[in-house]
Amino acid sequence: MTLFEKITARQIPAEILHEDDRCLVIRDINPQAPVHFLVIPKTVIPRIGEAAPEQQALLGHLLLTAASVAKAEGVAESGFRVVINHGPDGGETVPHLHVHVLGGRPMTWPPG
Ligand code: AMP
Repeated sequence: MTLFEKITARQIPAEILHEDDRCLVIRDINPQAPVHFLVIPKTVIPRIGEAAPEQQALLGHLLLTAASVAKAEGVAESGFRVVINHGPDGGETVPHLHVHVLGGRPMTWPPG
């Protein structure tokens, strides 16, 4: 089981912001901004580059959920950043696809 499957199964605690039949949204344990949460599909896709065409609707659902939870967290007007890390250079550490949403402070570009 991946770390995020264990969180979904309530074997590891997390602050859950949203849950539906297709995804779980948790606050990041090591936040990089005042608002930092993760949108995690319940179906395990290791990383974005391994998503299949038939998962298109699920991937769209993750982004729409990211936007709606960002609004609920109060950063829709001030702005937020959506990040997916793929592989070593991308900074991926958990091999279970997740969408980072960061907000509550101005972001810099280019990212580090
Ligand atoms: P990534 O580096 O893109 O794979 O992102 C993994 C993210 O998961 C990091 O931002 C971690 O801080 C976060 N993380 C790791 N363990 C936990 C946990 N138990 N609960 C919440 N977030 C976690």
